[in-house]
Amino acid sequence: MSLLGYSVLEAREKLRQGEVSAVELAEAYLGQIERVEDEVNAYLHLDAERTLDEARRAGEGDGELAGLPTAIKDVLCTRGIPTTCGSRMLEKFVPVYTATCVDQVTAAGAVYLGKTNMDEFAMGSSTENSAFGPTRNPWDTGRVPGGSSGGSAAAVAAGEAPWALGTDTGGSIRQPAAFCGVVGFKPTYGAVSRYGLVAFASSFDQVGPITRTVRDAALMFRFLVGKDPRDSTSVALPGKPQVPGDGSLEGVRIGVVAELSGEGIDAVVRRVFEEALAALEGAGAAIGEAAMPHAEYCIPAYYILAPAEASANLARYDGVRYGFRAEGAGDVIEMYEHTRGAGFGDEVKRRIMLGTYALSAGYYEAYYGQAQKVRRLVRQDFETAFGEFDFLVSPTTPTTAFALGEKVDDPLTMYMSDVCTTPANLAGTPAISIPAGLAEGLPVGLQIFGRACEDEKLLEAAHAAEQAIGFDAVPPLLAEVI
Ligand code: GLN
Repeated sequence: MSLLGYSVLEAREKLRQGEVSAVELAEAYLGQIERVEDEVNAYLHLDAERTLDEARRAGEGDGELAGLPTAIKDVLCTRGIPTTCGSRMLEKFVPVYTATCVDQVTAAGAVYLGKTNMDEFAMGSSTENSAFGPTRNPWDTGRVPGGSSGGSAAAVAAGEAPWALGTDTGGSIRQPAAFCGVVGFKPTYGAVSRYGLVAFASSFDQVGPITRTVRDAALMFRFLVGKDPRDSTSVALPGKPQVPGDGSLEGVRIGVVAELSGEGIDAVVRRVFEEALAALEGAGAAIGEAAMPHAEYCIPAYYILAPAEASANLARYDGVRYGFRAEGAGDVIEMYEHTRGAGFGDEVKRRIMLGTYALSAGYYEAYYGQAQKVRRLVRQDFETAFGEFDFLVSPTTPTTAFALGEKVDDPLTMYMSDVCTTPANLAGTPAISIPAGLAEGLPVGLQIFGRACEDEKLLEAAHAAEQAIGFDAVPPLLAEVI
C-alpha cells in the first residue's frame, strides 16, 4: 500500500518499527501535494525544505509522534512561519511565538507540513472568504470543502496530510469534515488551550483535530489537551484521554435531535443519516427521539454573540500593531480607516458591523443580552436531553457540499450551513462529525454530541459508530494513488 493509505496510528507504528522513515513519509505527502495542490489549494504556506529537514531530525528522535507530518490551520501562530488567517490584514505577519497546541505536538516530534487555507479570520462556511482564493473539495473540485477549516479538511481528504489542526467556533471543524468525508472533532470548550489561536469569538473558539479515523482523532487529542497557564479559560479534563479500543454500542442510549434532523435537512442527507442510524441500531444502540426546544434560536443567537466578540477582538488590527498598514493617509484616523477598509474582506466587515451594532448602548439588552439568555437555554436543553440519553446525534450539515459561488452572495443562506453545529459551541459541549456515507457521490456527516468534559466517552462511542457504519471511501484523486 502507498504510505498515503495509512492512518496516523498505522503510520506511527511503521515509523516506530523502522519499516518507514520519517523522510519517506514526508516525501510521500509532499509528492501528493505536488500532484494535486493546484487543483485543491488546501495550503497557504508550504516549505518542503523545512519539512524534510524536520523529518530528518525527527527520525533521530524518539518522541511519541516522531516523524508525523502535520498540517496547521493558518489561524494558529507558528513562530517564524507566516500566519495570515486567510486575510490581507495579516499577509506579512510572522509571529514571534507558537500556539501551545502546536508546541505540544511538535515537542512530541511532529513535523511541519504546511499552513492550511481558511475563511478570513475563520468567518465562513466554504473557505471562499479566504483572501487567497478558495480551497476546492477533493470529491468534486467544482464544490466547496466547507469552512472555515476547509483547507485542513481538504488536505486530509486529498491525502495531502495525514491529519490537520482545525478550529471550531460555530462548526468550522465539523462542517468541512462532513463535506470532505473525514473525521472532525470539536472538544469541550477549554480542553485545548487557545493560546496562540488568533481570536475570533473567544467564548466559542476551540482547537481540534481533523483526521481520517476516530482513533486518529483520539490519538492527536491526547497531545492537544491540557490546562495552560497562558489561557485562563483552559480546563484540565479528568484524566488523559485514551485511544478507544474495540468499543460497543450495546445498550448505549442515543437520542436523535428532532429539531436538527427533520425539516430543513435535504432529503438525500436525511436518507444517509437514517441508514447510519440503522447501522447504530444494528450494533445494539437504543435509539430514541430527543428534543432541543431552543434549537431554532441557535443560529440567531450565534450570529449576535460571535460577531459581538469578533468586533472587540478585531479592533486590534489598526495598522499599528500587526501586519498591514494602508499607505498615504493624512492623519491617524484616516490611517485606521484606510487600513481596515483595505485589509479586511466583506464578510469580516459585515461581522464587525453586526457585532458593534449588537453591543451599542441602545441595543445591548435587546440583542446581546437576549442572545446570552438563549445561550443558557440551549445549555439547559443539552442537560435535559443528557438526562435521558448518553449521546445525541444529528446530521452534521443540512446539505452536502454546495457549488463554489452558490451561496457566497447570500450570507443568510451561508449562515444556515451551521444550523446543526452551533448548538455545541453555544453550550461548550464536545461534538464530532464522522462520515455517514455518500449521497450522489458526496460525503454526508453524522454528528455525535457528548456531555461536557466527557470527550473520551464521546470518542469511544464515535469509534464504535464508525465501525458499525464501515465507511472507507476516499476521493478519486487519492484513490488513484493508494
Ligand atoms: N461558519 C461559522 C461562521 O461563519 C462558523 C465559523 C467557525 O466555526 N470558525 O461563523
